[in-house]
This record gives sequence, C-alpha cells and structure tokens, in this order.
Amino acid sequence: MTRLVLKFGGTSLAGIAELENAANKVALERERGHSVAVVVSAMAGATNDLVEHCRSVSPLHDAREYDAVVSSGENVTSGLMALALQKRGIAARSWQGWQLPISCSDVHGRARILGIETKEMESRLDEGEVAVLAGFQGLTSRNRLATLGRGGSDTTAVALAAGLGAERCDIYTDVAGIYTTDPRLVPQARKLDRISYEEMIEIASMGAKVLQTRAVEMAMKKRVPIQVLSSFGVLPGSDLPGTLVTGEENIMEQEVVSGITYSKDEAKITLVGVPDMPGFAARIFGPLAEAGINVDMIVQNISQDGTSTDVTFTLSRSDASRTVEVLRQTPELTETEIRLNEDVVKVSVVGIGMRSHPGVAQTMFATLADKGINIQVISTSEIKISVLIATEYAELAVRSLHVAYGLEQ
Ligand code: ADP
Ligand code: ASP
Ligand code: MG
Repeated sequence: MTRLVLKFGGTSLAGIAELENAANKVALERERGHSVAVVVSAMAGATNDLVEHCRSVSPLHDAREYDAVVSSGENVTSGLMALALQKRGIAARSWQGWQLPISCSDVHGRARILGIETKEMESRLDEGEVAVLAGFQGLTSRNRLATLGRGGSDTTAVALAAGLGAERCDIYTDVAGIYTTDPRLVPQARKLDRISYEEMIEIASMGAKVLQTRAVEMAMKKRVPIQVLSSFGVLPGSDLPGTLVTGEENIMEQEVVSGITYSKDEAKITLVGVPDMPGFAARIFGPLAEAGINVDMIVQNISQDGTSTDVTFTLSRSDASRTVEVLRQTPELTETEIRLNEDVVKVSVVGIGMRSHPGVAQTMFATLADKGINIQVISTSEIKISVLIATEYAELAVRSLHVAYGLEQ
C-alpha cells in the first residue's frame, strides 16, 4: 500500500463546502488503495484575522503568545476534516503538532522543523486510519508551540511525507499547478508539467507564494516529489494533473526560462558617503545580522574621491524601519545620511537553462529598457537574474518579460 500526503491550503478549506470537497479528495485516494495522511492549513483568512487580533491587543506582542494565538486556526480545520472523513465512514483522527511531536527551533513566528516523530501515526495508518495533521505548528525544546512562518503548512506536509516515506506529497491549492508566472497577474501564463527543485526554490524565494521555500528545500534534500494541483475542477482520470516538482534528472525538456516572479515585500536602503576602507561593510552589516535582519541584494559604488562611497542594499519591507533604527544606533554611522525607499519591487527570471544559454540577462535588460523601466539594483545567481525597479512598473515588467521569453500559452 503506497502512502500519500495530501495538503490542503486555506482557500481549499475556506468554508464547510470547500472542506467537504477536500474530504472527497481524501476519500478518493483511499478508494484507490492508498494510505493517506492529510495536512491542513487554517481556513482562508483565519490566520490573517488572528495576526490582526494580536496586533490590536499589543502591537509589540510577545512572540510566544503570538504563536499560541496564530497556530490555532489549523487546530480547527484538523478536527473538522477528521469529522468530515468519519461522516464518510472513514476512520480518521486529528493530530496537532505537539502530539507527534514535530520538534522545531524556538525562533517564534518562523521556526524551523528539526524532527518529526511518526511512529504512532504510522502504526495507526497501517491499521487503516487517516491521520489529519494541523500544519504550520511545532513544539520547541522549551515545550512551547511555535509557528513555521507564513505558508508553513507546505513545510509541515513535506516534513510529514519525508518522515512517513510517502511516495508523493500532493499540495492542493487554488490554481492548477506551477505556472510560468502568477496566473492571477498574467492570464496567459502557462502551467508547467514539471519543474526542478532548484528552479522551484528560486521561484518560491523570489516571491511566488504558491509553495513555502523551506518546503521545497526540504523536498529536495529528502527527495520527496511534490505535486501542486487544484482543489477545484481537476479532470478525473489523469494521474498527475498538476505540476510535479522533482529532480532535474526527471525533466526531459529543459526550458531556458521557466518562470518570472515579482516580490512586493522589498525595501531599499542607501547609506550615503560611508568611508571606503577595509572592514567597513562588516561594521554596517554585523549589527544587522545580530538583530536577525536578512539583507538581500547589496551594491557598493566606486568611490569618486577615494575616501567615501555609497552602499545600497535591499531587505524585506517588514524589516525596514527596524533596520533604520539599528543603523542609526551604529556608532560609525552617526553622521551618515540613511535613505529608505519602500516604493520598489523585485522582478526575477528563473531557469536552469541559463547555465548553458548566454543572453538571458541581455533579453531582460533590453525588454525593460524598451519599456522605459529603470533598473535600480541587479543581482544574479547561476539560474536567476533579479532586478529592483519602481513599484509602478511591476506588472508591466512581468507581462513584458513573459512575452519576451516566449512563455505564453
Ligand atoms: P494556499 O492557500 O493553497 O496555500 P497560496 O495562496 O499560498 O495557496 O498560493 C497559491 C497562490 O500562489 C495562487 O493563487 C497564485 O496567485 C500564487 N502564485 C504566484 N506565483 C505563482 C506561480 N508561478 N504559479 C502558481 N501560482 C502562483
Ligand atoms: N495558515 C498559515 C498561513 O496562512 C499557514 C499556511 O496556510 O500554510 O500562513
Ligand atoms: Mg500557501
């Protein structure tokens, strides 16, 4: 009997009708003879509401209590899913993160899964019971609940699939798979049949929220195939109707560019006229690292006068004001002008084919130039090129690049 993990996202559980629809998918996999574990998100909007409640009670809330509140949305759906399955005559039991347990780091709000104890769940699965696990939550070494960062149920699902040795992890969502770009922004986006882990990690980390980046990193490390597919309107009979995220070796036709992403969660900080001398970058970025702030793109200009230069870097918009605070308290920067620009987005093109095809960056730069879009910062990796541009051009840039790389249907 093969094991499958099915994960349902918030829109797939938005209300009772959607939850019943999801329960039907679980029942169908049982009928096909699979042993099934289910991972559920909170109902659509529930987590946002809980976050908002924390903010309104206490803007500078304690992270442990934030997690106590925000993790609760998944407890509701896990119980409801177990009830919906029992109603269908299927033995089912809900599980919360602490009951396995799923152990995680104590970085509250974005904890990492460290381990997962599946022994008891496995014996119950072997008896034919369906396990319904609340996603997004784990237990720290101090016995507190912690959440895994927004979108973290994806990572719960992959961790469970790895722990159970499942054949595949099916992620049910509100689109039919992974597309060449966000299909809500570009209706001409094309669904991909397969995509490599490497590309999916870049696409996820560059802003497509369809899978949490850590979920794909874990799937790649543990070699768990992921299928992303729709909860709604999937044609029956097709074995893999969605997109398979798999090893590069399983992909026959490799496209030069597989996807285009954009991220609005960006801010740009420029330090004007800092000393151009050895060790200065360490003195700027050291305090940020200590404050747990992740810096993304960095550029340092050539010094005009041989003594001072400008340093520009980008980071998550939610960290921007805290970063400015930290920089202002850095002794070396007391005299430095700090410019913050939150009116920026990052647009990226991703594709493994870039390794062997020159000219991909040039197509990007020429396309943006043609539309009169100024590039503020550029960064590249082996399979990705990212540019920072003004927010007003985000959609134009994504649409034009989608055409320029020939990605439409
Ligand atoms: P869930 O609630 O099921 O976890 P999410 O909202 O987290 O779903 O992720 C699904 C959304 O991801 C889609 O509705 C889509 O707008 C967005 N998305 C962004 N980029 C892509 C892409 N390249 N392919 C598919 N979906 C994408
Ligand atoms: N409910 C959580 C969130 O909204 C986790 C998830 O849906 O994956 O971020
Ligand atoms: Mg999600």
